[in-house]
Amino acid sequence: MGALVVAVDGPAGSGKSSVSKAVARELGYSYYDTGAAYRALAYAVLDAGVDSSNQDAVVALQGSVSYVASEDPDNQHFSVDGVDVTEAIRGHEVSSSVSAIAKHPLVRQGLVDHFRNVIAACERPGIVMEGRDITTVVAPDAPVRVLLTADEDTRIARRQAELAGTASAPSVAQALSSRDRSDQTVVDFMNAAPGVTLLDSTPLTFDETVRELLRIIAITKETA
Ligand code: C5P
Repeated sequence: MGALVVAVDGPAGSGKSSVSKAVARELGYSYYDTGAAYRALAYAVLDAGVDSSNQDAVVALQGSVSYVASEDPDNQHFSVDGVDVTEAIRGHEVSSSVSAIAKHPLVRQGLVDHFRNVIAACERPGIVMEGRDITTVVAPDAPVRVLLTADEDTRIARRQAELAGTASAPSVAQALSSRDRSDQTVVDFMNAAPGVTLLDSTPLTFDETVRELLRIIAITKETA
């Protein structure tokens, strides 16, 4: 039997990475951050000086770089052609250019195929895969599909707390909403698709949100 797939989507700052990681840790599952793969490709595009608006050029580069991501929730490392980009992909330059490459359909198709291969090759009992289109495109048949949201003020406040001391409040707010606006023209990750469970973390603490996702997974396991 293959790994149990837990698909988690949500906007920037919804807490999906930290919640997904905690759940994977608790259950001994793999954790896979699809956003990191988009970010690593954006990094490679910037590094090679490729025009991000040129889909063919981005796809050609995508086919020539090798991307390796760890799936251990406690040890997240990413590399592009053997170079560790774990920190670089979180930088402002990558964050502000990633949406431009993520909007190309052929780029997305290549990454969707890659993510499906990751699921098929998973050796742990389950995998928590998070992103924007996991519940709808990458793994629409996953037994657990959750859209994790929080209202915008809450998401901005959480992101600011995460980046405390490194960015001013208005620029964080602006960057987060402009990335979400741009990403939403490509995939709808603000409304739960049919069959997807909406988990609104606005009134919940981090621990409560983790517990709620664990509860949803436990129910699925019981009824399987
Ligand atoms: O999750 P994170 O915010 O790190 O994702 C970075 C970017 O990657 C998003 O802003 C979006 O453009 C893209 N992305 C995507 N589909 C996914 C995951 C991320 O388009 N499944």
